[in-house]
Amino acid sequence: MKNVLITGASRGIGKECAVIFAKEGYRVFINYNKSEKEAFSLAEEIGGVPLKCDVKNSQEVKDMISFIEKNYGGVDVLINNAGISKIKLLSDTTEEEYDEVFDTNMKSVYLVTKASIPYMIRKKCGRIINISSMWGVTGASMEVIYSASKAAVIGFTKALAKELGPSGINVNCIAPGVINTDMNKTLDEETLSSLSEETPLMRLGTTEDVAKAVLFFASENSSFITGQVLSVDGGITI
Ligand code: NDP
Repeated sequence: MKNVLITGASRGIGKECAVIFAKEGYRVFINYNKSEKEAFSLAEEIGGVPLKCDVKNSQEVKDMISFIEKNYGGVDVLINNAGISKIKLLSDTTEEEYDEVFDTNMKSVYLVTKASIPYMIRKKCGRIINISSMWGVTGASMEVIYSASKAAVIGFTKALAKELGPSGINVNCIAPGVINTDMNKTLDEETLSSLSEETPLMRLGTTEDVAKAVLFFASENSSFITGQVLSVDGGITI
């Protein structure tokens, strides 16, 4: 049985990945930080293992990966999904907000990946899938720090794909468009409907749209693909 660790799996895109990977027969590690009730009820529903860890805290990350390695072998597929956004003008942001967004969206990817790869390198196989954003590709007004952190995730993906390719590890990235999760619950109806009109496929994305692309990057169907950024955005960035 293959192990998949999904960061930020208590809600939204991460939760959907947990459901889809469990259906595919993976042992699913459901990382969460604050949403304990949601993580435990998901774990019960799909037979996964809930793991509390603030992914921007290096000690907590080390403990989470040690727990998996001690009890279950190691992480075969890592999905770096946990993330937060802050919508405001750059001039109104604080240094604390910069740190919070960058640490959650980028430092976490560094910490969880670094702790997970010794096992993958020993086995000479593994898959790492990072969730960036279309804003990491195009940049968003009012989300400058978020966009920069997601662009960093893309740079990290490409560089690490080169470094880990010889060890049989594929590293890819997904850049979702607007997906109907809590992250967008502050957007009003009018904004959401204009975003869907701007999208060539004429709708917003679902968590399933993203989770199916993540599953592709974990599967044998993508074995010769690495260092790529796949837009799952209905064509909005074309
Ligand atoms: P949600 O807000 O629905 O869920 C975010 C998840 O991240 C939660 O499970 C939350 O866990 C977890 N999380 C946040 N901070 C931490 C932390 N410090 N440690 C561990 N877990 C944490 O977001 P989405 O599902 O929409 O987003 C998932 C990813 O997709 C993010 O990286 C986001 O940037 C990206 N994305 C989303 C888009 C969208 O339109 N929704 C578009 C493009 C990219 P908990 O509640 O337990 O703290």
